[in-house]
Amino acid sequence: MSTSATIHFYGGIGTIGGTKIIVQEGEFRVLFDFGLNYAPGGDFWSARIQPRTGTARLRDLMALGYVPAIDGLYKPADAASAGLEPGESDRTQVFISHLHLDHMAVADLIADPIPVWMHADSLRLFRAVATTGEQPAVPVGARAFEWFQPIQVGPIKVTPVPVDHDIPGATALLIETSAGTVVYSGDLRLHGAHPERVEQFIRAARSVGPQILLIEGTRLGEAEPTPERPGTLPEPAVPGRVVEILKETQGLGLITLYPRNTERIEQIIAALPQTGRTLVLSAEMAHVYQAMGGDLRQVAIYQRHRDRQALAQGTAEGWLRELFTSGVKVLDAAAVRADESRYLLQLFYWDINELVDLKPGAGSVFIHSNGEPLGRFDPAFELFARWLDAFGLKLESVPSTGHAAHADLLAVVKQIAPAILMPIHSRTPELLEVEGQKRILPELGAKYDIVSGERLA
Ligand SMILES: [Zn+2]
Ligand SMILES: [Zn+2]
Repeated sequence: MSTSATIHFYGGIGTIGGTKIIVQEGEFRVLFDFGLNYAPGGDFWSARIQPRTGTARLRDLMALGYVPAIDGLYKPADAASAGLEPGESDRTQVFISHLHLDHMAVADLIADPIPVWMHADSLRLFRAVATTGEQPAVPVGARAFEWFQPIQVGPIKVTPVPVDHDIPGATALLIETSAGTVVYSGDLRLHGAHPERVEQFIRAARSVGPQILLIEGTRLGEAEPTPERPGTLPEPAVPGRVVEILKETQGLGLITLYPRNTERIEQIIAALPQTGRTLVLSAEMAHVYQAMGGDLRQVAIYQRHRDRQALAQGTAEGWLRELFTSGVKVLDAAAVRADESRYLLQLFYWDINELVDLKPGAGSVFIHSNGEPLGRFDPAFELFARWLDAFGLKLESVPSTGHAAHADLLAVVKQIAPAILMPIHSRTPELLEVEGQKRILPELGAKYDIVSGERLA
């Protein structure tokens, strides 16, 4: 039997995200995920130090280990500047498991002729967030797949299957080579609204008799919950908890949410009538929610100082102008303040200076429900908390993470029972241990034979 198929680890080892792995057979390569690892406080970049633009961007990211030096992947000018061969052939194809930044933040570096595959919902979301000015731009080679519809890359067959994660379109991959199948879990959880998707993934993975299982381990070694750092809720419990808090709130309700988790926005909108409040969304959030099929007639849009200024000066971008003239109810700070007990206002933390005009009254609350800053481990959280203190706002946490608990990961591994387990996307992958299960902890930069798991380079 040929053992010409290999797996090469270029990122996502010892880190949360930044997963970049190539499965190769002959001249054909399947590269999955192309984001930046999530390392608040451990990064080379800040508000003032950013990768340079133009062809220097690839060199900067490569020099600091954010993206790998790979021939045949990048745009011609960038590749030439970095001393690499440009990406010219679709013998290399890229797959994006889902649209979190740690899986797609640098997808725009990929050369135009290279297909960049993702679920149709991920591509819809990608286009929506890019329209609101978020980086990266949608790559020229972006293409949509549907679950269970295989894509052939030379001799390699890639079958996308659904998983549950805190974003639409989340996908795992079954990558079949002539030497055996590599299963990539993407990011997943069992406490979400769609555990049946994970069950489906487990069945599909087990049925191919996988040689290697690559599984995320974000929460391996997680500390026990404390009052300050409450444990994660099941996703379906989030709206109910928000309602409970709001029923006890006299003043304004504020909330952080993650724009890409449009399902949570929808669930909160559905639960809010019990509180007599309307959800008021920031413009970017409203645009993305609508692009993903959400109905803006049930919400209002908050007009920030800078939105008003851009509209008045004629510098507002098309999507923003359209949104504010689409007939959806628009509220500025004065309108929210005048009737604060009737609203739940979603405010990005970088818009927190709106509090100056909102002047929340006594008994107002800020609900942190994921969204940035992601948690107390993020240096931005301290600043966020300082603003809340200054305006007398009570902080309430209503978190539901997108990542499976340790015990759930063990259950997934046991049911899939691969020949070789390779934990990734974790700071402590060694903690994922299943008795009797062969395990290899892949090393950054290393290449392995898919059949034997033997290290080749
Ligand atoms: Zn991730
Ligand atoms: Zn994710």
